[in-house]
Amino acid sequence: MELTLNEAVTKVELSGIRQFTYMVRDTPGACALTIGEPDLNTPDAVKEAAKAALDANETHYPPGNGYPYMLEAVSKFEAEAHGLHYAPNEIIMTVGATEALFASFSTILNPGDEVIIPTPAFGLYEAIVQLRQAVPVHLPTQHNRYQIVPEELKAAITPRTKAIILTSPNNPTGCMYTRETLDAVHEILKDKPIFVLCDDVYRTLVYTGGYHSFAEYQDMRDRIIVIQSFSKPYAMTGWRLGYCMADAPIMDRIQVFHQYAVTSIPAFVQKACVTALNTDTSDVVEIFRGRRDYVYRRLVDMGLDVQEPEGAFYMFINIQKYGMDSQTFCEKMLREGLVGVIPGIHFGTEGYMRLSYCYSDEDLKEGLDRIEKFIKTL
Ligand code: PMP
Repeated sequence: MELTLNEAVTKVELSGIRQFTYMVRDTPGACALTIGEPDLNTPDAVKEAAKAALDANETHYPPGNGYPYMLEAVSKFEAEAHGLHYAPNEIIMTVGATEALFASFSTILNPGDEVIIPTPAFGLYEAIVQLRQAVPVHLPTQHNRYQIVPEELKAAITPRTKAIILTSPNNPTGCMYTRETLDAVHEILKDKPIFVLCDDVYRTLVYTGGYHSFAEYQDMRDRIIVIQSFSKPYAMTGWRLGYCMADAPIMDRIQVFHQYAVTSIPAFVQKACVTALNTDTSDVVEIFRGRRDYVYRRLVDMGLDVQEPEGAFYMFINIQKYGMDSQTFCEKMLREGLVGVIPGIHFGTEGYMRLSYCYSDEDLKEGLDRIEKFIKTL
């Protein structure tokens, strides 16, 4: 008897980031600069709100898309903080940005559709696209300071192109798209039946002015889906909470996928989410800005080629001069230098490594000292 599984699921590998992270964890004495989540804890007020909701027995099935007060709070927050206007019926609370992405891609993709993924990129996109039996089309950006080259985007578009994903600030580079880039992308896409997924989960962790999301191009509202998360700005990765926003007709369909996949997010976390939205995150931004400045300076002083990131909490470091592929380099550095970072290949870009600065000042100093010592041996 031969058992067959879904072809797409059989082909997709488990996350390369996670696999490498486990390797670092299992290396005795290794200093990890791998993880993509704040080392801070969820604010107390947010935790208290969840505890109070539990005590008030908010433990029953909530409405599928989120309680009306929750959707109102997101709608108000987005309008006030980001100038984006989505009505409560255009918002769904999701199990992290991960489910928001899965539900959105599942709603728009048919097998064989192409999705343009500017690289380097968070590996989740490629996996979801493949699980939907659609086709990821990489659009490299490392030769242009991580900005999309308009001519190259035009060349990547075919009659099968269904969507493009824009991540700003980006994981793994921390860089954000300039207004100029977004204008050029808008000019190319404005008359095309192509969806734009805006993965803006790092937009509150920005250290310079001039941030713009593609979601601002509301003339394309019928094709834009905005992805958000509570994970990063509020140190709530383990809560698994996010949301997506889109024009009502699309949201009407995304909710079908969401309903049958997860029913809803938990009931008792929703007051906590509202509390989070009302939390001032400027101190968190300051902490990460300080770390960014320190890590960037150290890497430059070591003679490493890295572009100064404007947001998020990663540095994407060029290691081409060492003549090794990124997996070999990172494994060697882990073994011999006892410091772990993620190989760039797991973000679709060879010749680079991603360092996370979601660590204490002491850990960052130790990790950077070890990198410095290791590269001197090469
Ligand atoms: N998008 C990007 C760019 C990310 O880096 C991550 C998490 N690393 C996610 C989405 C998923 O976030 P969540 O924890 O909300 O599922």
